Amino acid sequence: MKFTTVIIALGLMISIGSFYGRVNAAEPQKSQTITKTGTQASIKGPDAFFTGAVRIDPLFGAKHPDAPFTGGYVTFEPGARSFWHTHPTGQHLLVISGVGRTGEWQGKVEEIKAGDILWCPPSVKHWHGASPDKAMTHMAITGTLPDGKNVEWMEPVTGEQYNIK
Ligand code: MN
Repeated sequence: MKFTTVIIALGLMISIGSFYGRVNAAEPQKSQTITKTGTQASIKGPDAFFTGAVRIDPLFGAKHPDAPFTGGYVTFEPGARSFWHTHPTGQHLLVISGVGRTGEWQGKVEEIKAGDILWCPPSVKHWHGASPDKAMTHMAITGTLPDGKNVEWMEPVTGEQYNIK
């Protein structure tokens, strides 16, 4: 991967983008925007924030100060998962396909399946990923601060933490 691509990928994952996620306070738009399918490149989930094979497909950045959400698909291959993290203003996860898992700090691990909808409140330490044998794709809609920040990354999820019943 080229250095510039790495920098862009890191920027996207730290905040879903200082250029991408930041709320645009400039002149309000007067008409709709259609982002054509296939025009936004997939990104490899950086090893600094994910264990295993993860693909991120960015969908949208925050468009208005009163609707400060960023959105994207995240696809985890079997066994892959995020590191531990928190979100400053919370996150919705819509499980699109497959079977996954999510865990909370000092809590149990729960199975999540296509059609399930999760809400993670602000500052709750958690992780999400695939199940050991099945991939999982979720759409993440993440609350974003005015500076673009929407996640605080922490340590990796150990194999033991991934497998707690
Ligand atoms: Mn999360």
